Amino acid sequence: MNITIVGGGIFGVTAALELRRRGHGVSLFDDGPIPHPLAESTDISKVVRIDYGADPDYTALAERSLDGWRRWNARWRRPLFHETGVTFLARTPMQPGGFEHESYALLARRGHALERMDADAIAQRFPAYRPGALVDGYFNREGGWAESRAVVVELISEAIAAGVAVGTTRVEDLELLRAELVIVCAGAWAPRLLPELATSIVPVGQPVFHLRPRDPSLYTADRFPVFGADIATTGYYGFPVNADGIVKIANHGTGHPVTRDEQRVVPAAAEDELRAFLADVIPGLADAPIVDRRLCVYADTRDGHFWIARHPHRTNLVVATGGSGHAFKFAPELGPLIADLALGVPHPLAGKFRWRPELAEQTRGDAARAGGAA
Ligand SMILES: Cc1cc2nc3c(=O)[nH]c(=O)nc-3n(C[C@H](O)[C@H](O)[C@H](O)COP(=O)(O)OP(=O)(O)OC[C@H]3O[C@@H](n4cnc5c(N)ncnc54)[C@H](O)[C@@H]3O)c2cc1C
Repeated sequence: MNITIVGGGIFGVTAALELRRRGHGVSLFDDGPIPHPLAESTDISKVVRIDYGADPDYTALAERSLDGWRRWNARWRRPLFHETGVTFLARTPMQPGGFEHESYALLARRGHALERMDADAIAQRFPAYRPGALVDGYFNREGGWAESRAVVVELISEAIAAGVAVGTTRVEDLELLRAELVIVCAGAWAPRLLPELATSIVPVGQPVFHLRPRDPSLYTADRFPVFGADIATTGYYGFPVNADGIVKIANHGTGHPVTRDEQRVVPAAAEDELRAFLADVIPGLADAPIVDRRLCVYADTRDGHFWIARHPHRTNLVVATGGSGHAFKFAPELGPLIADLALGVPHPLAGKFRWRPELAEQTRGDAARAGGAA
């Protein structure tokens, strides 16, 4: 078929590559350079984890994605996925129903070797944390972080080499696109093209901070791997110091209401909250200079699950968005998933990602996400 994709973030680029690999003619349009500076996919790092509470769907998808990241690394000039391992640590003992407990239990049942840690083990192994601030949890050596912007750069060049036609233009009217199939991968902007999605795909601002520690040696990957610090309650997660001496800390919580086009300013309260969290849990960073901050915008669905489905009334139209702050890690599997659902190939996750405007209540699809009903 002749397929047009709107949006060159990780959803659009991986879908373009996969559909081209399946022999379709593919054109991809983005509203600006790819990677686009305002795109969710454009950042220095994204967490890659298989830890998804009690959810077997995301856990299985993440396991396959992890293998995909390792394959991509083997194929790329330099590794863009850094398997530092991940820690999910809690301020109180792990409890049934809690993110850390359920992730630990499910991953152990699936045969993953995890290292349970108590307060002493945490203090010894990860000296950046205030002793006693985190008292239980585990280290999972599988997982880490990906250089997201660099990944999009790599994949778009592969897409062009594979014969995907790429254009930088803003698509204003889907009706004008002459294609047998149109796939809207416009992230949080999708409702601008399809107003019927406005109550289902909601933009939510999330603060991201880049800090420059005075003593980077405390934050190297072996002593400070990717972490979630009581993430399902505080929302805080972060990364080891990178090659530029930066420690990124962000929040995977309820976020801040934004409109799609307004200036993206990090609310002052978010910085105060960060400083308070650091003073309590990672004191060495409590007064570290913030060298960059940005408000990145999630394309949030009501249940936190992705939205990958055919339009119920426009048969040549598919929408693939709704990353809800947790889709980048699945990049190696996103292309095949979107291609299958777009082409009507039966897929076990079709129900989870279906067209579902009926949802009213905000619920938490990603067990690691702080705030909102479980
Ligand atoms: C602060 C933050 C932290 C995150 N951390 C993680 C993490 O650690 N791990 C993880 O797995 N996920 C994480 N995510 C989520 C992940 O980044 C997203 O789910 C994913 O990148 C979404 O990709 P996308 O392609 O849907 O959207 P985007 O990357 O936003 O791409 C959409 C593209 O569509 C283009 N576009 C929009 N409208 C038009 C139009 N009319 N015409 C042409 N082009 C158009 C835009 O220019 C843009 O390039 C995070 C997200 C944020 C915001």
